[in-house]
Amino acid sequence: METREESEGRPLDFIRQIIAEDLQSGKHHRTITRFPPEPNGFLHIGHAKSICLNFGIAGETGGACNLRFDDTNPSKEDVSYVESIKEDVKWLGFHWGKEALYASDYFPQLYEFAAALIKIDKAYVCQLSPDEIRQYRGTLTEPGKESPYRNRSVAENLDLFERMKSGEFAEGSHVLRAKIDMTSPNVNMRDPVIYRILKDHHHRTADTWVIYPMYDYTHCLSDMLENITHSLCTLEFEDHRPLYDWVLDSLNTPCHPRQIEFARLNLSYTVMSKRKLLKMVMGKYVDGWDDPRMLTISGLRRRGYTPASLRNFCKTIGIGKSESRIDMGVLENEIRSDLNVSAPRRMCVLDPIKVIIDNYPVGQVEEMAAMNHPQNPKMGERRVPFTRELYIERDDFMEDPPKKYHRLGPDREVRLRFAYLIRYVSHVTDAESGKITEIHCTYDPETRGGAAPDGRKVKGTIHWVSAEKAMPVTVRLFDRLFKVEDPEADKNVDFLDQMNPHSKIVVSNAMAEPSLMELHPDDKIQFERLGYFCADHVESLIGRPVLNRTVTLKDSWGANK
Ligand code: ATP
Ligand code: MG
Repeated sequence: METREESEGRPLDFIRQIIAEDLQSGKHHRTITRFPPEPNGFLHIGHAKSICLNFGIAGETGGACNLRFDDTNPSKEDVSYVESIKEDVKWLGFHWGKEALYASDYFPQLYEFAAALIKIDKAYVCQLSPDEIRQYRGTLTEPGKESPYRNRSVAENLDLFERMKSGEFAEGSHVLRAKIDMTSPNVNMRDPVIYRILKDHHHRTADTWVIYPMYDYTHCLSDMLENITHSLCTLEFEDHRPLYDWVLDSLNTPCHPRQIEFARLNLSYTVMSKRKLLKMVMGKYVDGWDDPRMLTISGLRRRGYTPASLRNFCKTIGIGKSESRIDMGVLENEIRSDLNVSAPRRMCVLDPIKVIIDNYPVGQVEEMAAMNHPQNPKMGERRVPFTRELYIERDDFMEDPPKKYHRLGPDREVRLRFAYLIRYVSHVTDAESGKITEIHCTYDPETRGGAAPDGRKVKGTIHWVSAEKAMPVTVRLFDRLFKVEDPEADKNVDFLDQMNPHSKIVVSNAMAEPSLMELHPDDKIQFERLGYFCADHVESLIGRPVLNRTVTLKDSWGANK
């Protein structure tokens, strides 16, 4: 793992290196890449890696990157996913050409290419059942067996394929298969199915088609039709590359993109497959695809992650050829270093306990100047009202504190951030509950701003709000969604049983300084000593903020327990 500074000056990754060579040698004059999501779910942080790679390369080399929806499976796809994907790519800061492209727009051409394969005796209609096809395929150690339908005449194949298209046959009764080699050591080359019958409504082509091309067949031809130069995909497609090349070679296409595989992103404490994310959404284990705990792009956005933090994360992890699991802390550090610079500081008390300053005049309000950022005076300051009755965090007071506890306790003096030094006088405990209800203190009027003129040392500084002027806010404390680093490691345990029951805690009685009422949806701030938060862009309103904890100030995984 490298730090950002190292990555800035580091050599090109192996893909960028290949592309640089291709441009230099004149093999290509311009790179065209593509990002090809299937619209069957929302994009996740793994997709962000692929987006940053494909759009990144296009941007760096003056090329282009197409956004192409790989929409060949009508049963699982939906326009709502198309819209969310477009929004997420834009939000990440990338642009595709004039329009988004769709594999379904190529259905007529793909059909013609299939007919062309039949005509050169490289495809045939097979009537084995799906089960039989599986049995005939063989295994990794045993070769497959040829289908009895393999040697049909071209004319018969063309006729049957045409009738498949016209809806004459039932689903599963006929498929079109590439005629390659049933004994190939690569099972993907054992006469793969390239067309199947599906009588489903498609979100774009409606009911025009009852046959749909398979992914591998569609992908290479779509790339070819778009003049893609480099088709970048994840390692699981390495074994599919021979098929990618076979289709294009067999059809002798004018353009033959180069497929290059890279390692997908795996992240600790989460799952990444859309199928599993869908399960969590449908089973209401989370509050939708954009739940701030989800590692979807829309979830991270709602959580308070910035596009730059995700792009920087992708830069930090780099592009390689071996699978690995990235620690969630790496992602969290990126947003911390981004927000540390940009987020204005505010004060909020999550678990309020009342402090009464006995020697402070009743009814008096002082407006304390508070810097918005301790290292950046350009971010200005705001006024925070100070009154006789305040709230501080319950855990900033201890009746019997250990020596190293630099907060409030009997006989102790503590600094209230941007305000005064206060000294403990007494506290009141509720006889029934045993809970402390209020703490009495005195303040030193000579210490306005927090410094003592006599130079006496006060180690602890705590945050506070005025009890009279503070506003109640809803704060949601999020933590990791899963209890274990790899929720999929144990095959005998359902990943859903590995979810962290403490991943969301809603604090409804938090009290914040009045300036919080001006917060706009999506605004990001740091609550001093508590962490980085953002106003939820769906539920927060100006004057009625709902805050999501983006990340704690330090790595404090499990703090909700
Ligand atoms: P999932 O496995 O989550 O269902 P997918 O591969 O089926 O994802 P697609 O919509 O097909 O999802 O993915 C679009 C592109 O994003 C593909 O090129 C794919 O290789 C890439 N991609 C998907 N997941 C990751 C990941 N974890 N890391 C890097 N790239 C990914
Ligand atoms: Mg896929």
